[in-house]
Amino acid sequence: MEKPYRDLATYLKEKTGEKTVKLCIDGGFTCPNRDGSRSTGGCLFCGARGAGDFTLDPSLAIAEQVHTRLSAPLGGRRASRFIAYFQSFSSTYAPPVVLRARYDAALCDARVIGLAVATRPDCVDEAVADLLAEYAAHMTVWVELGLQTASDETAARMNLACPRSEFSRAVALLTSRGVDTVAHMMVGLPGEGREDALSTLRMINAHPVCGVKIHSLYVMRDTPLAAMWQSGEYEPLTFAEYTETVALLLAHLRPDMVVHRLTGDCPKHELLAPLWSAEKNKVLDRIHAILRERGWRQGCLYHQERGCRILA
Ligand code: SF4
Repeated sequence: MEKPYRDLATYLKEKTGEKTVKLCIDGGFTCPNRDGSRSTGGCLFCGARGAGDFTLDPSLAIAEQVHTRLSAPLGGRRASRFIAYFQSFSSTYAPPVVLRARYDAALCDARVIGLAVATRPDCVDEAVADLLAEYAAHMTVWVELGLQTASDETAARMNLACPRSEFSRAVALLTSRGVDTVAHMMVGLPGEGREDALSTLRMINAHPVCGVKIHSLYVMRDTPLAAMWQSGEYEPLTFAEYTETVALLLAHLRPDMVVHRLTGDCPKHELLAPLWSAEKNKVLDRIHAILRERGWRQGCLYHQERGCRILA
């Protein structure tokens, strides 16, 4: 059934002409929010694998990770084309010569036709943007930038250690060189409600980004957020609150944007709360049902809101 939003799988099929999926890679990077350059604590929700919880053993060489994924029983057969997705930590946080070697290593099989690189906005400088532009000139490339929230206050509370203005700078730098960007945002951050999530989405809408990833904030074992949850300082959203909020965000999302994700994905053995977030299909089904019930689709309230603002 056609989704009421522009989903990544359909977008990639249209773009490449074939079924194309991502291969999660741990590129062996670290993060300035953990190595002391910005901070040592990391974002309060970040687990030991730096958001790369579904990547293979990071001690494996990058090409080996790709070959292992492609030769797994479902790996090479679930699609004909693949995007190497550097998911763990800050995957532009190294000198360009190191980045080039690691990205090239992931392009070791002809079926890998592109790169997706997840990073922090403050880890994108001119040299990084120039390098990524070289790849983008002849293959599919996008950079995923961790915004999480439009509020500097929330960002400080979560120890993101990166001003929101860095997001605008990084998007401008990459866009000026023809490199696509995708914004990550989180729903359910401590102290934030539905209006705050909408503010973050409006900030993303106002930038020339090509896609969005909406994450539910979950509490992962052995993180600072886990201590906040255990002490009662943090209460995760309920299933109903989350799904209602995401449906509303989709209705306000700029219509040209590609939706890369609508929920978080924590390994079950690491998840403390909310337990509903382990049931990804149930979460997606409910979001789809809300959209259907309201007759909503991506962007249906985006134009309405803009029209009201113009008239006002
Ligand atoms: S920026 Fe990413 S890798 Fe670094 S601490 Fe935050 S979540 Fe973890």
